Amino acid sequence: MSVITSPGAPTPAVAAARERSAELEHLVARNPAGYRVLTGDRPTGALHLGHLLGTVANRVRLQNLGVEVFLIVADYQVITDRDDAGDLPATVREVLLDYLAAGVDPARSTVFTHSAVPALNQLLLPFLSLVSVAELERNPTVKAEAEASAAQGRRGTSGLLLTYPVHQAADILFCHGNLVPVGADQLPHLEITRTVARRFNQRYAAARPYFAEPDALVTPSLTVLGDDGVKMSKSRGNALELRASEDQTAAYFKRARTDADRTITYEPERRPEIANLLRIGAHFSGTSPEALADEVGPAGAGRLKALVTEAVVEGLRPLRARRRELASAGPRYLADVLARGNARANEIADRTLDDVRGLMGMRY
Ligand code: ATP
Ligand code: MG
Repeated sequence: MSVITSPGAPTPAVAAARERSAELEHLVARNPAGYRVLTGDRPTGALHLGHLLGTVANRVRLQNLGVEVFLIVADYQVITDRDDAGDLPATVREVLLDYLAAGVDPARSTVFTHSAVPALNQLLLPFLSLVSVAELERNPTVKAEAEASAAQGRRGTSGLLLTYPVHQAADILFCHGNLVPVGADQLPHLEITRTVARRFNQRYAAARPYFAEPDALVTPSLTVLGDDGVKMSKSRGNALELRASEDQTAAYFKRARTDADRTITYEPERRPEIANLLRIGAHFSGTSPEALADEVGPAGAGRLKALVTEAVVEGLRPLRARRRELASAGPRYLADVLARGNARANEIADRTLDDVRGLMGMRY
């Protein structure tokens, strides 16, 4: 898989996190049972190609290495920046189908919904006391979200959005997650989780630290652009959903934006749309974007789009077949997967909250 690096040199924090991540990959390979991953998605829509290449495939990889993976379907987070959460049961079902079709194995990984785990959410109260409003306001991701919400004429920053990184701390620490796969832009979020863990230990568990400070796993991953040349995202309506049909896939790439140069070359900075198609095609046909560019060359964007469509249709065929099979298995199966995940998450969260109450002197 090829790697996109953002233009310009990485900041020292990002460079350090990348170096640490390379080291972590070795440690994880040697001792997968020593790690627990917490990651997840907001149920705002079915998952798309960007999710698969950017994060879901990596979660499945970690699971298959033997790491215990917790996948949170963060339903409460849907209302951080919108008033209408839509049809949550239907959306949760789609996300669940995408996870399972992509290779998440419910026998090994725990899939649960945020709202179904009360003890996890209760951790938020002590955790909120450990961070200042100024620290939350400084968080670049919170800042960016607040600016985006203002620019789109949505309501101003909600308290839930401001405290988003603390929710994330509760999501990670409730299950003692010690490995969090993140994009470089999410590092500041994890910093707050680490701060919460550290301050909790200092205040309530000085003799024997209770929460481990989780590590960020910054994995090289693709940033996939949508058919409009902007980062693929559910809410932009520019996404190729994993559940799309072959015809929809062909139509999607046919309308994808390209540029006026005839000959295909791999120049990520100068030709981002073409580079995006080359990376997607290369990913699914096991070659490099450069080699694919050489192969297409003067045949132009039409030929490139045909090759990419073919590679994606072939590459997603097993996932889509499995998805259809699961969807036709009836609602019981998916409901059971979620019920088992929720039960396991609750068991762990209850234990953690009980420990926390004990450490805080709140056992009566
Ligand atoms: P929304 O429009 O609701 O923000 P989204 O489609 O942008 O949805 P998110 O829920 O914001 O999806 O993304 C979840 C995770 O999926 C991200 O942290 C990122 O790791 C990955 N991801 C999302 N979109 C892409 C993309 N286009 N390319 C690579 N990775 C992506
Ligand atoms: Mg997004």
